[in-house]
Amino acid sequence: QSWFDRARFIPPDAIFALTAQYLADPSPRKVNLGQGTYRDENGSPWLATCQSLSGTGALHLAGLLLRACKTPLPKIYIPEPTWSNHHQVFSSLGFQCESFRYYSPETRDLDIDSYYATLKSAEPNSVVIIHACAQNPTGCDPSKEQWRELARLFKERQLFPLFDAAYLGFNSGNVDSDAFAIRLFIEETGLEAGVCLSFAKNMGLYGERVGCFLLATNTEQAAIKTQSMLEMLQRSEVSNPPAYGAKIASTILSSTTLRQAWYDDLITMSNRIRSMRMALYDKLVSTGTPGSWEHLIRQSGMFGFLGLSPSIVLTLREHYHIYMADNSRISIAGLNEDNVEYVGQSIAECLK
Ligand code: PMP
Repeated sequence: QSWFDRARFIPPDAIFALTAQYLADPSPRKVNLGQGTYRDENGSPWLATCQSLSGTGALHLAGLLLRACKTPLPKIYIPEPTWSNHHQVFSSLGFQCESFRYYSPETRDLDIDSYYATLKSAEPNSVVIIHACAQNPTGCDPSKEQWRELARLFKERQLFPLFDAAYLGFNSGNVDSDAFAIRLFIEETGLEAGVCLSFAKNMGLYGERVGCFLLATNTEQAAIKTQSMLEMLQRSEVSNPPAYGAKIASTILSSTTLRQAWYDDLITMSNRIRSMRMALYDKLVSTGTPGSWEHLIRQSGMFGFLGLSPSIVLTLREHYHIYMADNSRISIAGLNEDNVEYVGQSIAECLK
């Protein structure tokens, strides 16, 4: 049985099917007069490819597919707080979005009991958005043991996990380690799952909009049918997403040297973020800033929740020229050797 049993098979777009046939034809004399793309004197294309418009486009594509495969529409459970676009993407597609408490401001940590309770009471077939790692904005992820219990509950309650993987590599510096939960759910637990990948942050391809939507299904039939639906949904909306950034990503991933350079860069980025967390923590502790600051080094990924009141956030902005979101979420990447002392000192002055 598959979540996607009611997916339909959509016959391939005639022109795309013709191109696939042309590409598979081994004849040296082959000529493709079907596809309306520019060809140079040697018959070579300048570009062609298929992927999602970054992480946002992958989430949107996932939403379109999920919407087309189930009646009545399943509920979407979204952690609170989360990246604000989650609500917009899914409610604009007509889904009823249900927030659940993910973070406890009191402990400044993940509220795992609330997460478990939400899954235990959710209707079967509901969709739950999961940040694969480096939760935005809290920086709080489940431990490996907690992930195991979550996977067990997803299976028991027949819930559909939709992973938002916008920061693979940012937690540990290693994309594989950061994909722990995705592999645990799909490979070890045997769950069907969607994965929305973005290369915006981890490859610095923000403006190129490079991402993809991956779906793991239980049955081959579901895989064939959902693939055909994804092709139609993609074609009806953007036909083909831009190829330039995808070529950059694919060049990096398919060259051993470039892939290693990328892995090294991820280690550099995640180490720098970790050392900035530590530097800010040290400054706050060494200046005797009131409050506890362990959450800063317990959290991981690019974002951190300082846990400051809105009035302190405003004072920092107006008197110290330090700008952060009203809820005191900070992008750790904005800290560096030159400013981290100043930021720590300023927070200390405001709180004393
Ligand atoms: N998910 C989360 C949690 C994010 O923080 C972001 C980027 N801010 C995205 C998805 C998608 O970003 P993009 O569309 O730029 O890949």
